[in-house]
Amino acid sequence: MSSFRAVAIPTEVADSVRATMKSPKYGFPAHKEVAAGRAPCRHCLQLVKISEEEAILFTMDAFYGKNVPPSPGPVYIHATECARYDGNDGIPLSYRGRLLTLEAFGADRKLLAEIRTANGDEQGAARVLLERPEVEYVHVRSTEAGCYLFRLERN
Ligand SMILES: [Zn+2]
Repeated sequence: MSSFRAVAIPTEVADSVRATMKSPKYGFPAHKEVAAGRAPCRHCLQLVKISEEEAILFTMDAFYGKNVPPSPGPVYIHATECARYDGNDGIPLSYRGRLLTLEAFGADRKLLAEIRTANGDEQGAARVLLERPEVEYVHVRSTEAGCYLFRLERN
């Protein structure tokens, strides 16, 4: 087991979006379509299969549940039920070797450090950030698209 885990969005958020087709808290309309490009589901942390599965695109606050000012952005989930990622092995295999941006946050959403990974060094980068005691959690984003993917926390 890794010293840290990947935290996917809560199942109740995914279920609510699927049921209402609205963004939680914001109420903006969500959009459903068959995946045409790389669409990582923020609930199971697997890719939505291109030309096969439907994805829902909605606006989500990446700091959901943290009691800090929000920072909303677009995310995908599978349009139909999927199993939430359990996260105990650190960064999911489907994200290893990708261009990722790891943002380390301290108290009150203070950005303490940022590492952009390449060449598969994402697990090491996450460990370096989470060894700093003032870091409370790390957000992982796609470097190319800029979208929020998941959060890392110590186990
Ligand atoms: Zn999914």
